[in-house]
Formats: sequence, C-alpha cells, structure tokens
Amino acid sequence: DTIGRNLDRTIAAYPDREALVDVPADTRWTYAEFGAAVDQLARGLLGTGVAKGDRVGIWAVNCAEWVLVQYATARIGAIMVNINPAYRAHELEYVLKQAGISVLCASQRHKTSDYRALVEQVRPSCPELRAVHYIQDGSWDVLLDAAVTVTDEQLAAREAELSCDDPVNIQYTSGTTGFPKGATLSHHNILNNGYFVGEMVAYTERDRICLPVPFYHCFGMVMGNLAATSHGACMVIPAASFDPAATLGAVAEERCTSLYGVPTMFIAELNLADFASYDLSTLRTGIMAGSPCPVEVMKRVVAEMNMAEVSICYGMTETSPVSTQTRRDDDLERRTGTVGRVLPHVEVKIVDPVTGVTLPRGEAGELRTRGYSVMLGYWNEPDKTAEAIDAGRWMHTGDLAVMREDGYVQIVGRIKDMIIRGGENVYPREIEEFLYGHPKIADVQVVGVPDERYGEEILACVVPRDPGDPPTLEDIAAYCRDQLAHYKIPRRLEILAGFPMTVSGKVRKVELRRQYGPAGE
Ligand code: ATP
Ligand code: MG
Repeated sequence: DTIGRNLDRTIAAYPDREALVDVPADTRWTYAEFGAAVDQLARGLLGTGVAKGDRVGIWAVNCAEWVLVQYATARIGAIMVNINPAYRAHELEYVLKQAGISVLCASQRHKTSDYRALVEQVRPSCPELRAVHYIQDGSWDVLLDAAVTVTDEQLAAREAELSCDDPVNIQYTSGTTGFPKGATLSHHNILNNGYFVGEMVAYTERDRICLPVPFYHCFGMVMGNLAATSHGACMVIPAASFDPAATLGAVAEERCTSLYGVPTMFIAELNLADFASYDLSTLRTGIMAGSPCPVEVMKRVVAEMNMAEVSICYGMTETSPVSTQTRRDDDLERRTGTVGRVLPHVEVKIVDPVTGVTLPRGEAGELRTRGYSVMLGYWNEPDKTAEAIDAGRWMHTGDLAVMREDGYVQIVGRIKDMIIRGGENVYPREIEEFLYGHPKIADVQVVGVPDERYGEEILACVVPRDPGDPPTLEDIAAYCRDQLAHYKIPRRLEILAGFPMTVSGKVRKVELRRQYGPAGE
C-alpha cells in the first residue's frame, strides 16, 4: 500500500502511543499528534501548489521536521529527494538540477554551516527551484499557514490518486565507485523493506528505537523510520548529528529497546570514559550495517550494551536497501562472519559475473537480487538503469559474495576493486585484513594499478601509526612472506596521512587508483 495509508492504520491502532521524540528540540508526539502534524504539512505543501510527482528536496540534519517532510510528501504523492547535510554548494547544485527539485526544505539547526547562504549562492543557476522553506524559521510557518487553504476532501482526493507503485523517493548512492546516482524508489519498495527489516527484529508498538544514524540515508529513513511507523514503534532522535554521549544518554532517558549505528559509532559509545554510568538495561536489539563488525566489538555490544539480538544487514541504496539480514537467534559467528540470509520475498543468487551462470554454494561471484525491493530505476539515467537491472529484473549489485551451505551470505568485496594480477584474482580485503596486524600500520587500503608485465600490480596505501617511522616496502614484504601467497604481496607502497572518503564514510578506492595508479609517479 502507500506510505500514507499504512501510517493511517498505525495511527488508528495506536493513537496514544509515542511516535517520535526529538530529544534536543524537546519535541514529543503521540501517533495521533504525529499524524496531525504530517497532515498539516501535507496540506501546506498542497496549498502552495505541490503537484503529484513534483520533487521536494530535504536538506537537513536529523530533526522532527525531517520526518514530517518524509511522510507529508508521501501523503500527497510528491517525490522526496534526500540531500546529504554535509554537501557544499556545488554538490547541492548538482542534486537540485539532476532531480529537478522545485521545492526545497532546508534546516537552520545545523550550527556548523549556514544553509541559507549556500542555498542563495546556487539559487540563480537552478531555475526549476521555485520555493525554499527554512525549517525552524519564519518561512516554515508560512508553509504551515497555507494548510488552512486545503480541505480534508482535497487532501483525501489527492491521496486517492496514489498507487503503491508510484515513485516516492530519490536517494543518491554514496558515490564510492564513481558519481552518485539517484535511485528512484516507490512506496512498495521502501515501505515493504522497512516493514520486513522490522519483522526480523520483532518490532512491536512497545519498541523505542534510538536513531543516531542520518535520515538522509536509507539506514535512518527506511530501516529506522519506516520500520518504526509500520509497527507502531517510537522513533527517538538523540542529537542532530552523531554524538556518542548524547546517544547513550537518550537510550537511558528514553528507555530505548533498540539502537542503530555503523560499527565505528558503537566503538565510540563503548569507549566513552563514563560508559558504565549509562543505564542500558532496556536495550534488547539494534541494527549494525554499512561495514563489517570486528568480533571483539560485537562481543562487547552483546555483553555490555545488552543487545543480545543485534542484527546485521547488507544492502544498497538501489534495493531499498536491505537484501540480507541476520536473525534473532543467530550466534556470534553468524553475526560477525556473515551478513545474514535473504529477507522474505527477496531472491538472491551468486553468479559468474561474466557468464551469468549461477555458482554452487561456497563459490565467490557477483550477488544479484530480485524482488519487490529493486528500485524503479536511476532518476533520468536510463542507460545506467539498463546496465544495473537486466531483462529478468535482476539487480546486478557489483558486489562479490559467497552463499554458504547454511544460506548465510558473506561479502568478499566489490567487483570493481578486485585485482587481476597475472591471471590470478586477488581480493583487496583479504590483504588489508592481514596488513592490519602489522605494528607500524594504522590503516591500509589495497588497490590494483596498471602494470605492463602483469596487467595489474598490487599497491598498498598505508597510514602509518607513527608518521616519523613508516613501514617500508621491504618491511611489508617480509611481514607477508610465508603468510600470503606470493602473488598477493604488495609490490608498491604509498605512505599517506589519510584516504579520500565519501560523505557517508566509505573509502574511494577509485580516487586512490587515479592518483597513485600511473607508474613512476
Ligand atoms: P556508489 O554506488 O555510488 O559507488 P555505494 O555503493 O557505496 O556508492 P551505497 O548504496 O550507500 O553506495 O552502498 C552500498 C554498498 O555498500 C554495497 O554495494 C556494498 O558494497 C556495501 N555494503 C553494504 N552493506 C554492507 C555490509 N554489511 N558489509 C559489507 N559491505 C556492505
Ligand atoms: Mg553502489
């Protein structure tokens, strides 16, 4: 069904239960109050002329209004476009133009940047942008005031026009392997994904989910918000952007049952000097995603944060996002060694990326997925859509994975990152994991660079523990000898202060290859 009609059912079932708590703003809404606030904004947007299919941008850090924009746009059939709050002028301009955004909702809460100045800077070059509403500002009230011009019947008439297969959201990919692409997602795509992710952790109206992860990303808005509203659970916003003390403070104060984060967030929380002083006894579950979790961290999350049922997910923006997830009774090995098994109503196969033939269990190949979760396509990029989704509606993820005998999936790396040296396939992640053990190495990325003799050669980019005493290529070769096959040993080395990153915190290997690839530099 549509997101709006699904929300109506939750409001009818649990009108007096809390829907949303925005801790820093001290905003607290029951489902009845949340529904009324969504309707007011939906009418305001309708009253200011937002038509079905219009793109409405949301450029804000996590706040209650972000969630209102998410549900109000869905209710009136507009397409919300998530804009990364860390973007600067030229990135903002790109998204405004690429998605053809006509209305922008921008935050004033983020203290470190002046959104208004950036918007005004790019506005002259974005003729399609006809209105900007600043949240927590007088212009927001103007939008809400427009609500009185729209009747119940008008709002209901718009909603009656909507189908679950209509596009409701454009989310840009992280841009790890190239330029970000706008994945166009329907109600059916993301509402179902949020619902099933919530089913896997058994959410009910008694759950309270602490969300320190950004809403602009699917982790926050689908696995968080849509999982919550489809089960009558409460969304708790601990802070505008990640703050470990504020997060644990909110878990304790708001008696949260679930906590989300990428592994580095959990590490920061566990390492707080006053960690023991937070009452985390209400936690039972949570979701960890984005990158693999070290075993030691997982053990502490389970034991010290009381999250015995913490769940691991794998997915991508284009698949709404989740394809595989661990289950409540999985043991530590499955929670750390795999990304779980396939979600209900989703298909996953592991194939030879060249021939497309399905491989036996245990063999590494490209993960392809099909089902309700596969996006409608890339916004305004039919060629890229045709490359990513084949005639059988299988999404080619570009990820290398293994499906074990027990049906659990392991991610090996990205196809684009795989190195072919003298005919041998080399997976960077295996070498990186080994090199992490070297005493002089703080962080490392392994990439393939062009080589006349072997086709590709292995380059290790190293951030040393002590910049005054970096490892040499000989140190690394000696460390690898007798431990790694000889064709996997790095033949080139670059010592760096840090890596080029995407705004969602992933290393851009493509940039490392471009910068350090050409030999002799
Ligand atoms: P772009 O497509 O623009 O290059 P991106 O693929 O990093 O960027 P996202 O859609 O945010 O953009 O990320 C999806 C990718 O993240 C997956 O294809 C996969 O490579 C990686 N990923 C997601 N979850 C996990 C996980 N649990 N473990 C390992 N890798 C993961
Ligand atoms: Mg991708």
